[in-house]
Amino acid sequence: MTELKLYNTLSREKEVFKPIRKGEIGLYTCGPTVYDFAHIGNLRTYIFEDVLKRALKFNGYSVKHVMNITDVGHLTGDMDMGEDKLEKGARREGKTAWDVAKFFEEAFIADLKKINIEMPDKWTRATEYINEQIDLIKVLAEKGFTYKISDGVYFDTAKFENYNKLSHLDLDTLREGARVEKNEEKRNPTDFALWKFSPQDSKRDMEWESPWGIGFPGWHIECSAMSKAELDDQLDIHCGGIDHINVHHTNEIAQSEVAFGGKFFNYWMHGAFLNIEGGKKMAKSDDNFLTLENAFTKKGINPLVYKYATLQTHYRKPMEYSEESILNAQSGFAHLQNQVRALGGEEGYIIKEYKDEFLKAINDDLNMASALATVQEMLKSEYENTDKLATVLDFDLVLGLGLNNLITNDLSPEIRNLQKLRDIARQNNNWTESDRLRDEIQDKGYVVEDAKK
Ligand code: AMP
Ligand code: ZN
Repeated sequence: MTELKLYNTLSREKEVFKPIRKGEIGLYTCGPTVYDFAHIGNLRTYIFEDVLKRALKFNGYSVKHVMNITDVGHLTGDMDMGEDKLEKGARREGKTAWDVAKFFEEAFIADLKKINIEMPDKWTRATEYINEQIDLIKVLAEKGFTYKISDGVYFDTAKFENYNKLSHLDLDTLREGARVEKNEEKRNPTDFALWKFSPQDSKRDMEWESPWGIGFPGWHIECSAMSKAELDDQLDIHCGGIDHINVHHTNEIAQSEVAFGGKFFNYWMHGAFLNIEGGKKMAKSDDNFLTLENAFTKKGINPLVYKYATLQTHYRKPMEYSEESILNAQSGFAHLQNQVRALGGEEGYIIKEYKDEFLKAINDDLNMASALATVQEMLKSEYENTDKLATVLDFDLVLGLGLNNLITNDLSPEIRNLQKLRDIARQNNNWTESDRLRDEIQDKGYVVEDAKK
């Protein structure tokens, strides 16, 4: 079997993936700030993470996936200045910050389902981990890494050696980037807020008591506190979009390595941007903002076409959105669906030759364009339709294009999926996972019997 290689932003190299524990991998993906709808740029990052998680499972690992919901503390300025995005959303909508968070969290989950993204095992909302965040700041304070100024408690980045280990930028460049927002009281431009104080003259919807005064946590502290709380020592892979490298993830690493000691996550992976024509990043703050609803559903285009389109571009390369590229993806995806439908409903055996090729592609840092080329080669080959069907449905465990919904036979797509995951676990001698999956299938009212083949 080919080794799984993933590009690690920490080393700027493709590395052979080595899990901390043998059976289960911890995966933490930075989630949405729920003050508005997700745009299709955000969704590109979540699709990359979904493919990653599915590829890990395809390699026989079980994955414990945690995704946060930022429902407080993410300010409009990257450097802890400006307004809380949730409070801003609340004013815009004429609702409380709590209601805004709930509404856009639900909208976000509905979007993920439309593009067949698997749900994480655990959603963590920042507002539900306030004590953990306060405890973490206390540890940082005890170790002498914090200081208090008029608007909050800050982390002193000058005290942390290797502050630039993730960004690989020299410290002057990082400081220059941070200087865009002036806060004269900070000791260093890159210092960041751990706890912000509520304004003196008004009451926020979301605020809590703390040893330093009433206020709310800074944005970066939530991901450190929640990943540690939920994954503990399974800190394998941490993901986000490339815009998180220089500030958010850099700060997470600094505060976590100080507080917990040792390395905070072994692999850091980042997805490149979806740009609009002309190379400009799609952003929530701009008018160029397209949602799944207005770019796809409203036009009668299956949202899965977007997932199919993103698979053509490697996740570390910028992708340009254009109506033309979506039309091409639409016909490509329809063609694939027709090819699968034409195979009938009966599944034979997975074709090893093509499975090896497919694995080689995904294990080369998720080369999905090459994986899709293998799908086409396989479908055009001389093998039996039954075997082609078994193979393409097996590949769809990674592609996540809902191809099993096109097939009609006695088992539901859900049961077929569980059965396939169990086959993979068994092939990899992962008996705990295979037993767990057998129980899950049996709980749904089926009997599982293992025949020779
Ligand atoms: P946010 O809701 O703004 O915190 O962003 C959610 C996720 O989307 C983060 O991982 C960002 O890095 C990512 N992201 C933001 N804009 C883009 C874009 N244009 N293309 C791809 N990913 C993006
Ligand atoms: Zn985060």
